[in-house]
Amino acid sequence: QLILAIETSCDETAMAIIKDGREVLSNVVASQIESHKRFGGVVPEIASRHHIEQITVVLEETLKQAGITMDDVDAIAVTEGPGLVGALLIGVSAAKSLAFAHQKPLIGVHHIAGHIYANRLLKEFEFPLLSLVVSGGHTELILMDEHGQFEVIGETRDDAAGEAYDKVAKTLNLPYPGGPQIDRLAQEGEERFPFTRALINEDTYDFSFSGLKTAVMNTLHNAQQRGEEVSSADMAASFQASVVDVLVTKTYRAVKEYGVEQLIVAGGVAANQGLRKALHEKFTNEDVEVLIPPLHLCTDNAAMIGAAASIAYEQGHRAGLDLNANPSLSIEKYRKRSTVTKG
Ligand code: ATP
Ligand code: MG
Ligand code: FE
Repeated sequence: QLILAIETSCDETAMAIIKDGREVLSNVVASQIESHKRFGGVVPEIASRHHIEQITVVLEETLKQAGITMDDVDAIAVTEGPGLVGALLIGVSAAKSLAFAHQKPLIGVHHIAGHIYANRLLKEFEFPLLSLVVSGGHTELILMDEHGQFEVIGETRDDAAGEAYDKVAKTLNLPYPGGPQIDRLAQEGEERFPFTRALINEDTYDFSFSGLKTAVMNTLHNAQQRGEEVSSADMAASFQASVVDVLVTKTYRAVKEYGVEQLIVAGGVAANQGLRKALHEKFTNEDVEVLIPPLHLCTDNAAMIGAAASIAYEQGHRAGLDLNANPSLSIEKYRKRSTVTKG
């Protein structure tokens, strides 16, 4: 079974060929970071234009690297949401055109389901499993009892973890995207500023990161007023310590409460060295298996979309040519309303 997967939800034009749900034959990512850098973040109109420019080049490269043609493809998968509507539309239109022209089944994939399924490229899932999703737009704890079924047990009440990283990086005058920059700096600094850990002791799996972002800004501002120099490395280390502490503590509690077989970490912030290390330390002596993708599968890519689509394909899910981009698609509801045609 060969799936051509397409991902254009944000600022990466990505396509991949996935064999039998677990094997990556090709995984091409055309990043637009350089174009958005000077604006300090993703500009939706620029993202859409780049996707249009890149999409056929990326398709050719993806097929070429896998050594196949469109005839060999069994199904076409595409991220239908959530994300930037204009960016999503380019991928969805391309997928529909290809499905129509080559008479192939079409599968719509939820972007966050994709981030989660990046881990199935490492190892087969064992249920029940818990996913800690930490990305640019999401921070969620998601429970799964079976393939393609997702229960959100906690989520951020304001900023996502990646969003907090990017905003704090901006206040430290670091280039976009700020996550990797803060991560690097944090390794050189010390936790000099004891920032609070929001909601850490509260009886909820929800998160909150906007207060921490404000605390960072206030600390910088106050130091400036006093004419003091603040080390960016120490600020990065202090900020990261708070984020990681909250994420690891809540995740640990949920792993215990739900007695899961596997803990999966997903999304761009899963690339964070501090978080990866803290999770490995916390769970070394626990009998839960921890999966964290290699860095290139943490940030946006289409291999993860193909991995999620493979299961959906086996389960008989097919989208029609009326498939539309949905910028606010819910992960709990999206499978329930998609067409199922078994047998
Ligand atoms: P979503 O997946 O929620 O729709 P997105 O696709 O924009 O959002 P991803 O591509 O999954 O997000 O992740 C990008 C985010 O990950 C950015 O906020 C970026 O700063 C962050 N990030 C990437 N690498 C690291 C790192 N090493 N440490 C911390 N954050 C990181
Ligand atoms: Mg991105
Ligand atoms: Fe993403």
